[in-house]
Amino acid sequence: MSNGKKEELSNYDLSAGDKIRIKTSSEEVREGFFIPSAKQDGDIVLKLESGYNIGLKEENIEKLEVIERKKQGKEDVGKNKDFKYSKDAKNVLILHTGGTIASRVSYEEGGVKPGFSVEDLKEIYPEIFETANISSEIISQMLSEDMEPSHWKKISEKVFENLEDFDGIIISHGTDTMQYTASALSFMIKNISKPVVLVGSQRSSDRPSSDSFLNLKAAVKFIEEGIPGVFVCMHGSSDDEIVFVHRGTRVRKMHTSRRDAFKSIRSEPFAEIDIEKDKLVLNGEIQKTEDETELLNDLDEEVGFLKVVPGMKKKDLEKLEGCNGLIIEGTGLGHLPVNSFDEHTKHHEKILGKLEEICEDTVVCMTSQCINGRVNLDVYDSGVKIKDAGVVSGRSMLPGTAYVKLMWALGNSDTLEESKDLLLKNVAGEFIEREDYDVFR
Ligand code: ASP
Repeated sequence: MSNGKKEELSNYDLSAGDKIRIKTSSEEVREGFFIPSAKQDGDIVLKLESGYNIGLKEENIEKLEVIERKKQGKEDVGKNKDFKYSKDAKNVLILHTGGTIASRVSYEEGGVKPGFSVEDLKEIYPEIFETANISSEIISQMLSEDMEPSHWKKISEKVFENLEDFDGIIISHGTDTMQYTASALSFMIKNISKPVVLVGSQRSSDRPSSDSFLNLKAAVKFIEEGIPGVFVCMHGSSDDEIVFVHRGTRVRKMHTSRRDAFKSIRSEPFAEIDIEKDKLVLNGEIQKTEDETELLNDLDEEVGFLKVVPGMKKKDLEKLEGCNGLIIEGTGLGHLPVNSFDEHTKHHEKILGKLEEICEDTVVCMTSQCINGRVNLDVYDSGVKIKDAGVVSGRSMLPGTAYVKLMWALGNSDTLEESKDLLLKNVAGEFIEREDYDVFR
């Protein structure tokens, strides 16, 4: 199949989900499901029975045979549909928001672009639909860097209205801002009764190295455990062995491209799943409540975020005046330049003055850019001055989590004092009281 290959391939009229057999020039026979090609020039991606994807180069394809056409009757996208597997299996709803997990590589435009519908995923990952009763609904088809707090509200409403009817909900989501959505949902759904698991992938679903299959499969397995809460489920190692489940308020994307980019900060991942061995190890504490589930999704988006850098000026704070809340990502234990030692640092007095002024009618919370460890405003003189100015300590809360939580706390209370109290209360595991030093490596 080397000359006129494109025409020959198109003669087969292949569709996603067709079962095909390929003989390669090295006499190897590969059988699996055809995935719509990421490339225009005819390279093939094959989903093997094992669940993994492989890419085959066109010049290496000796013979192609269609074993079975995919089942006909493609349903509409965007509506809630059921795929009933067995009455004993768990009922899982996949809410689809977009991101790489639902993207294909666009060679025309030279990037990754949202495109796959949930129905496409069903064709590519039939195994997931063979262990659970899957329903699906598309909320949006967007990259998560474009998400707004109003999208968190929309997702929370969908989750809330479906919680009772399902054993668990999977939210397919872009990885860039997944930790923010996970935090928002953790706060917005009070007394959550079921597992809600955010799943993404670092490589698009039509690429041989995609991590989406394993992440989705692990999410389904985790849902089988029935542990309530909001979680993120992503590769735990750079190979296809372990998947980690992280608590929604304690997780962070720590790598731009690796498949194991997500880490639980200052704690072990909530759970570790080995799909091949069908094994789940639980590290986290299960929090169950009989209290009624409530949707508390009001947000006050007037929250600013300031990263402290050497050389910062009073005007950096002035730009954030007028916000109802401010998260500062300070240095070390939670600092910003407020001491004057010489003529170069004289302006630090002005920074402190401005901070005091802002604190009069704004909730200002200190977090640390160290990522690990906790804020402590009682160690250095600067910390004490910052505290006296009216800044509250975010303790062990991650900066991104604190940012989302402050919007939520301001949106769900009547006074600044009430918002502060809510901000500093442990709502969804965002504070860690005991530090496990071994976790930091
Ligand atoms: N930029 C993409 C997003 O966050 C990356 C991904 O999906 O993983 O939506």
